[in-house]
Amino acid sequence: MYVGFDDTDSTRGMCTTFLAYIITENLLKRGVRFLEYPRLVRLNPNVPWKTRGNGAVALHFAADNADRVQQQITDMIGVYSDLQNGANPGAVFLRGNSITPRMKRLSRDALHKVVEISDACDIIRDGGGDAFSLGTGRGVIGALAAIAYDFRDSTAEIITYRSDANLGVPRQIKPDSVRVMQKTFPDTFNSYDDGSGQVLIAPRGPDPVFYGIRGENPGILYRASSMIMHTERLRGHMMFCTNQGTGDHLQHTIKARMMEPYSSGVVDGVISIEPQIMPGGHMCFSIKSEGHSIPCWAYRPTRLPQKLSGLMRGDHVIVSGGVRGESEDYSRAINIEKVHVQRLAPHITYKNPHCSRCNKSMKSKGRGQHFWCVRCGSTAEHRQQICMPRTISEGIYNAAVTAHRHLTRPPQRYNRVNHITFEPDTDWFAVYKD
Ligand code: ATP
Repeated sequence: MYVGFDDTDSTRGMCTTFLAYIITENLLKRGVRFLEYPRLVRLNPNVPWKTRGNGAVALHFAADNADRVQQQITDMIGVYSDLQNGANPGAVFLRGNSITPRMKRLSRDALHKVVEISDACDIIRDGGGDAFSLGTGRGVIGALAAIAYDFRDSTAEIITYRSDANLGVPRQIKPDSVRVMQKTFPDTFNSYDDGSGQVLIAPRGPDPVFYGIRGENPGILYRASSMIMHTERLRGHMMFCTNQGTGDHLQHTIKARMMEPYSSGVVDGVISIEPQIMPGGHMCFSIKSEGHSIPCWAYRPTRLPQKLSGLMRGDHVIVSGGVRGESEDYSRAINIEKVHVQRLAPHITYKNPHCSRCNKSMKSKGRGQHFWCVRCGSTAEHRQQICMPRTISEGIYNAAVTAHRHLTRPPQRYNRVNHITFEPDTDWFAVYKD
């Protein structure tokens, strides 16, 4: 059986991965046999109704009494979802290996554009699955997308959970131990920002996650996790197979002609309006792509404005990011995540010609007339063309690690394709004893 679920949380509490943890605890107690690590699939980071990181979860297991298991999971989703604070939970159940090509396509689409609830429901029904939902039922989109996600590349995350008694109070984690744990880099990533000393593995909100460490394989994550020092009694941990750090939401080409709001992907173009720094330290420039002019914004927290300020008209760039819908004050635009500067245009300036005999700059005789050397009288027709050095180089410019999306592919993962193999006899799930 596959079960996917999503949208069980709100900004006030809960977390869909925590619901996965307690459902898994329950299933393991019943002797259910897991066939994969629980999946944590991040979907289009630009949908406006996400709570945090647009993550959906799926479990894949073999159970003797599938009907009873399905009923029990449905009940748990109803009980634990934060409905009072705006959760719109959805769950999808599929028996056997019934993931259809249409389900896979919806899952791919959900990574980079907006998908309709009705399309997800039709696909589930036609594929012989069952859907359960509360509220608007939007959660079925993520639930189906998580089940049908085809991992081209994958990473792992170990998430530890807090005890109920500690929810809402600051997390007691030792930042220095996280800094030291960085010696597992690059096999773990996005754990600590050396520049600011910021711990990136622990959220700040009221949700039950204590910390989550991301990396290339479960083995390195158990080791990294054992290095984290804290003074809080925790509830337990669970290992997830994820698409985090894969950059897979940027596989899609955003069509300049359509600029579908809230879609994610890349646009290829040539700078047509040079970068300008806006109030608040954000930066805006425009590119011309397929005859359309597209405004592109780099926001201050990404630290991209400093890195990209040397761009000029004529530079060929591939901009990655998400389409921001238009508002009263602003037109549709790309919010930049990454820029690949493909080719820099020459920076040409002009100056008066040089008299090589006197080693002096010549003077103009007037508008439309030639230039002459006031000392020896020699003349020249044209101004001299000078190619100035550029202040930016060709290459890839990424947002700062503190502004990375869950899906952002960190530079050390470029050209890397990873596959996570399930090892059922390891400590992938744990409830800590008091
Ligand atoms: P968390 O990361 O804390 O679990 P979240 O950021 O995942 O929270 P949700 O509360 O799950 O946010 O809300 C996201 C909602 O958007 C879900 O209902 C999900 O089904 C839906 N959704 C996800 N991707 C898409 C998409 N591409 N198009 C339309 N809806 C989507």
